[in-house]
Amino acid sequence: GIRRAYHSMAEIQFAAGARAVLPLHSDADYVKTPAAARRMIDTLSLELYRARLGSAHVMGGCAMGEDPRGAVVDSLGRHHQLENLSIHDGSLFPTSIGANPQLSIYALAAKLSSLLADRL
Ligand SMILES: Cc1cc2nc3c(=O)[nH]c(=O)nc-3n(C[C@H](O)[C@H](O)[C@H](O)COP(=O)(O)OP(=O)(O)OC[C@H]3O[C@@H](n4cnc5c(N)ncnc54)[C@H](O)[C@@H]3O)c2cc1C
Repeated sequence: GIRRAYHSMAEIQFAAGARAVLPLHSDADYVKTPAAARRMIDTLSLELYRARLGSAHVMGGCAMGEDPRGAVVDSLGRHHQLENLSIHDGSLFPTSIGANPQLSIYALAAKLSSLLADRL
């Protein structure tokens, strides 16, 4: 999947008019044609720490829901198994929401924290 992503990104960048493309890999170098990109990407080792991956919008790690079989916390952010643990952050979304999340996270955290304060 990672190699396919390198290929797709290089194709997209050349198609958009890039004169050189640099895959985010420790052993990669600038390539100037789609054919050179294909050849180089096919040789890149995918061992740990050489292929660099990053995301600024990781969400959904503690998805909320009433059914403990499919959710980590309930709809008030209370952990289904650990008593007295509440989670109020971007991990409550079912998955990455596909848009800038900060305002939604602020809203969710403000609402759930106010309710938690009331309960306490
Ligand atoms: C480079 C970048 C650019 C972004 N740009 C935008 C943007 O323009 N617009 C937008 O809407 N969103 C943007 N985001 C996404 C947004 O910033 C995050 O989705 C949001 O901040 C996540 O909020 P959060 O409260 O869920 O988690 P975080 O903000 O990650 O907060 C988690 C907190 O928990 C603390 N923590 C971790 N472990 C522990 C521990 N064991 N004990 C105590 N504390 C701990 C951390 O120090 C941190 O303060 C961007 C993200 C990045 C990385």
